[in-house]
Amino acid sequence: MRALVVGAGPAGLMAAETLARAGAAVEVFDAAPSPLRKFLLAGRGGLNLTHAEPLELFLGRYGEAAAPLAPALSAFPPDALRSWAAELGEPTFVGSSGRVFPQSFKATKLARAWLRRLGELGVGYRPRRRLVGLGEGATFAGPDGLETPHADVVVLALGGASWPRLGGDGGWVDVLAGDDVAPLVPANMGLKVEWSARFAERFAGTPVKAARWSFAGDASRGEAVVTATGLEGGAIYALSGAARGALRAGGTARLLVDLKPDLTEAAFVAKLGATPRASRSTRLAKAGLSPVAVGLMREAGELPAESAGLAARAKSCPVNVTGFAGLERAISSAGGVKWAALDQRFMLRASPGVFCAGEMIDWEAPTGGYLLQACFATGAAAARGALDWARTRAPALT
Ligand SMILES: Cc1cc2nc3c(=O)[nH]c(=O)nc-3n(C[C@H](O)[C@H](O)[C@H](O)COP(=O)(O)OP(=O)(O)OC[C@H]3O[C@@H](n4cnc5c(N)ncnc54)[C@H](O)[C@@H]3O)c2cc1C
Repeated sequence: MRALVVGAGPAGLMAAETLARAGAAVEVFDAAPSPLRKFLLAGRGGLNLTHAEPLELFLGRYGEAAAPLAPALSAFPPDALRSWAAELGEPTFVGSSGRVFPQSFKATKLARAWLRRLGELGVGYRPRRRLVGLGEGATFAGPDGLETPHADVVVLALGGASWPRLGGDGGWVDVLAGDDVAPLVPANMGLKVEWSARFAERFAGTPVKAARWSFAGDASRGEAVVTATGLEGGAIYALSGAARGALRAGGTARLLVDLKPDLTEAAFVAKLGATPRASRSTRLAKAGLSPVAVGLMREAGELPAESAGLAARAKSCPVNVTGFAGLERAISSAGGVKWAALDQRFMLRASPGVFCAGEMIDWEAPTGGYLLQACFATGAAAARGALDWARTRAPALT
């Protein structure tokens, strides 16, 4: 059986590995000049491969897409991904928050070992070839013009549209077209805030440590960094999907930040009371707030004079969000091939023999390893689907 995989990201290469192991002749086509570009970029931030929480909790992170993703994630769960990495010479460890990382904290070693193994399995690789049509076969525009290689099955793993300069620019939406694709929008992105010039100048690049951020019933703790135009970091990304929904519906988004989440308001009032005659900034600093935290409180309006008012502001400080960062800086994108357009094998109902995997499918998840895990799992699932379809359709192919 000849299999064509389009997209040399984690989803596509996992599909290629699964197909090759089953005996298929596999070629991977990609528009970019080199493979695994986004995976390697993710490695610069530590490469959070997956998460160690129980599978039931894990599945819940995918919201509405949990049900259609469950079979793929159950067949290739976090433990399987960890074993796969260990086999490639990169054992993983569980960080304090349950996040799973390769021991080197990087993607380079894993990527190198994986590409070597794919070569050993006979997987071919054709870079600089962009999918431009999907009719009687998959058509690519490359250095030698247009080509439509023969294939019995095609697995598309074209990624989302974030960080388009890495190759995955979402241009494939025009190739698939029609009602089958939900528009690609930023996910896990920074939020825009109109800071005062003074605050932006002084605090851009400063982390807000150990705070608890909340929006519309969701809350997150973790990294948040002030930028010149707003806020970035894991704690903000976790709330960005809900904020995006509110802003797109024409509403406003007001985050609340608890700058002292481990103290009750009463305990904080008591701390502030220890220095009654000092200025408000000094009292807040002596009570343990960083300059950026005090700055955030000032951005919300003049600081109250009384300890009770100051404590209330510190425990529930409003931050008005005016927009969200674009796809060029988002960690991932939401939208993509709708679940209704796929059958249980991840095959496009409208294009028999063509399967989809990875971030190009309509699911989203917070950061924490959930993105890569679903990409690997759906890559393996789409490949199994393709093998199964080819077997039942024409036993002679296999
Ligand atoms: C800065 C950053 C940090 C991240 N960190 C993490 C992390 O720590 N943990 C985590 O779980 N996730 C992380 N992610 C997200 C994760 O990297 C992606 O979800 C994942 O790479 C998506 O895999 P994929 O195979 O679906 O698509 P991609 O990796 O985007 O690969 C898609 C491939 O398809 C190719 N392609 C696109 N269109 C065409 C076309 N028309 N013709 C031919 N080829 C085409 C592209 O060139 C690309 O090679 C991070 C993302 C970013 C941007």
